[in-house]
Amino acid sequence: MTEFETGRPVVLRGGTVLPMDDSRSVLPGADVLVDGDRIAAVGPELAVPDGTIEIDAADGIVMPGMIDTHRHMWQTAMRGYGADWTLTQYFVWYYLEHGKLFRPEDVHAGNTLAAIEAIDAGVTTVVDWSHGLRTVDHADAAVDALQAVPGRFVLAYGNIQAPPAEWTAAPEFRDFVTRRITGDDMLGFQLAFDVLGDPSFPEKPAFEAARDLGVAVTTHAGVWGATSDEGIRLMYEHGFMTPGTVYVHAATLEADSYHRIAATGGSISVSTESEQSAGQGYPPTWAIRLHGIPVSLSMDTSVWWSGDLFSAMRATLGADRSRAHLEAHAKGETVTHCALRADQVVEWATRGGAHALGRDDLGSLEPGKKADLVLIKNDRSPVSFPLLNPYGHVAFQAQRGDVHTVIVNGRVVKHEHELVGVDLAAARRQVESTVEYLRSTMGEETWLKGMNPDIPETKILDNPYTYTDYRSSATRDR
Ligand SMILES: [Zn+2]
Repeated sequence: MTEFETGRPVVLRGGTVLPMDDSRSVLPGADVLVDGDRIAAVGPELAVPDGTIEIDAADGIVMPGMIDTHRHMWQTAMRGYGADWTLTQYFVWYYLEHGKLFRPEDVHAGNTLAAIEAIDAGVTTVVDWSHGLRTVDHADAAVDALQAVPGRFVLAYGNIQAPPAEWTAAPEFRDFVTRRITGDDMLGFQLAFDVLGDPSFPEKPAFEAARDLGVAVTTHAGVWGATSDEGIRLMYEHGFMTPGTVYVHAATLEADSYHRIAATGGSISVSTESEQSAGQGYPPTWAIRLHGIPVSLSMDTSVWWSGDLFSAMRATLGADRSRAHLEAHAKGETVTHCALRADQVVEWATRGGAHALGRDDLGSLEPGKKADLVLIKNDRSPVSFPLLNPYGHVAFQAQRGDVHTVIVNGRVVKHEHELVGVDLAAARRQVESTVEYLRSTMGEETWLKGMNPDIPETKILDNPYTYTDYRSSATRDR
């Protein structure tokens, strides 16, 4: 048993604290005291109860745990496999063909690894957008995995192999909800399905099911080639756009749809790395900022990239600024001041996620809030100093290897860069067994073909400077 399993209070001493309060304070040389599952105090040189465990946060940054509002955790079992995929190849793989091979134990393996990866990277809450739940056994396996890892999770229940009106009406689904979703603070619940724009609105009974259960819907909206303004219109006209609704990507929508989202109080989960690489649409923060729609960040799936929100913050700043420059250049103008700032993306990665989930007790470090927090500190790294601009440091300098300590619900789950009370070796064995099963079931040729999609032919453009030798043609012209 480690000292952290004793339930003693913990104080992080002398860090640069970013409480993510309303005024976006920066508190240099401050302490954060955790007692039970709550933040007890934030401030300089705190007096603490006898027996409090002290963690030296000097030269580090203490901030709220990050919140990922959209990750298909089951797919982490195939980490990196789809690095060169487009969205089309992803759909074929997971929706039409091999995703169906996943057994409950494979969903368990993926979820376990994704959950461990999250807490290791300081992502203390993840929405598991779990659309591979072909049977309730798969769903039980997903929850078993989430509950075995000391992070905070939201199961967003989905099943891409059946219409949402069908699976949400199944008695075994309702039974699952009664059995497994018991109001545990560490396990939230949403329904996850997409609205495909059929004018007869076949998704309507699924929205009614969510309303009956009193849970939010999370939906891939505004995805090139898949979902569009039509889906938003149907949701709006039937009264299913609510403050709890989370619109994922929302990258190809017209202003009218953004107006509807803003007016009904929902939020958008931006997965910048996914949108850039897979092709859902241009990462939309540059557009949705103009509508005042709340934003949270997400990583989508580790079948392409790893699941840490440092990359999300960095990619989001880059994509937003890149678009602002391009739009200005097209008009012959120059951007002289960046509109999207580092502190804003840090807020999206923390409070933005808490807001999207209706969890105002998460996402900031203030007395009485839940104790989910991260210490970013790496004394061996040349990138750890000078620490001049803490928000800029988090967004553009720090990375997962700099996550020194992570606390979830008052429990230390990582300390001095080491996970506490997590069996990574067991997770590895599980994932290896899943990979072995998928690979052998599919056959080696299919397995390799899936990982290495054809490369489209690139024609090198004609270059007039190569037609003749430059020197001789210059001499000839003279
Ligand atoms: Zn997704």
